[in-house]
Amino acid sequence: MDEVSSLIERAAALINEAQFIVAFTGAGISTPSGIPDFRSRSTGLWENADPLKVASIYGFRHDPQAFYDWIYPLAKLTFAAFPNSAHDSLARLEADHRLKAVVTQNIDMLHTRAGSQTVFELHGHMRQATCIHCFKIYPAEPIIRQFLEDRQVPHCSHCGSVLKPNVILFGEQLPVQEFLNAKDYCRKADLMLVIGSSLEVAPASELPMLAARNGARIIMLNKDSTYMDNQAEIRIVGDAAEVLPRIVERLEALV
Ligand code: NAD
Ligand code: ZN
Repeated sequence: MDEVSSLIERAAALINEAQFIVAFTGAGISTPSGIPDFRSRSTGLWENADPLKVASIYGFRHDPQAFYDWIYPLAKLTFAAFPNSAHDSLARLEADHRLKAVVTQNIDMLHTRAGSQTVFELHGHMRQATCIHCFKIYPAEPIIRQFLEDRQVPHCSHCGSVLKPNVILFGEQLPVQEFLNAKDYCRKADLMLVIGSSLEVAPASELPMLAARNGARIIMLNKDSTYMDNQAEIRIVGDAAEVLPRIVERLEALV
């Protein structure tokens, strides 16, 4: 048996023993759906602008057009994307009552589209957009589809001010209740699957450590290393869309 196969076997055994599993996901789970991750160099998606500036709330207020120019490729790919077999595997684990929640940093809504029910979207989503002046909330899809056609900054039909998709930008607070609920699940977890996250964006990235401190075993599935690799009982370097379905398959063979 090769090394990855034996790690997959061990991961299935840990999942089989666990009572309260939580998955923590990042942009890496959606790269097989065609949405590049944050730190990807090969696509050039983020190379023309510093996301810390342009994707900050200060940057947005100062120059919304620059923000919209920056988010254009991500919005375009997100609205064209479908959940992949990694998202599907997590939905399946939840349907089998093994997985209690998905805590995600992703804004692409692919977990809910795959059928996951308990999903905490710590960095928001692209289902809605909000006026930054009068706070009127709009369904985002028609607004973003229009923007993908004309590249114009969308405006509020009520007060004329700028609309911001309900994604959390740098410098903004995380949605408080969402974060507290996610923390609660992470504290209770006896097993956490960390999938496709560099764990570099705080405070979200602190949740796997919170789980570990409260006794959760950690399975890490990533293409690169993270600050928590030495905390992982099992660390698999690989593609989530290949490895997760294999884990689920092995798990189902155990039952
Ligand atoms: P990140 O880009 O910092 O890290 C992604 C991690 O996933 C890397 O460690 C990489 O090695 C790994 N990876 C890439 N493809 C993988 C695959 N197929 N299988 C397994 N691992 C894979 O992502 P992050 O930690 O989520 O932080 C990025 C921030 O940018 C987040 O705040 C997120 O909201 C946002 N973002 C979201 C999306 C999205 O919604 N899909 C896309 C880009 C950025
Ligand atoms: Zn308004």
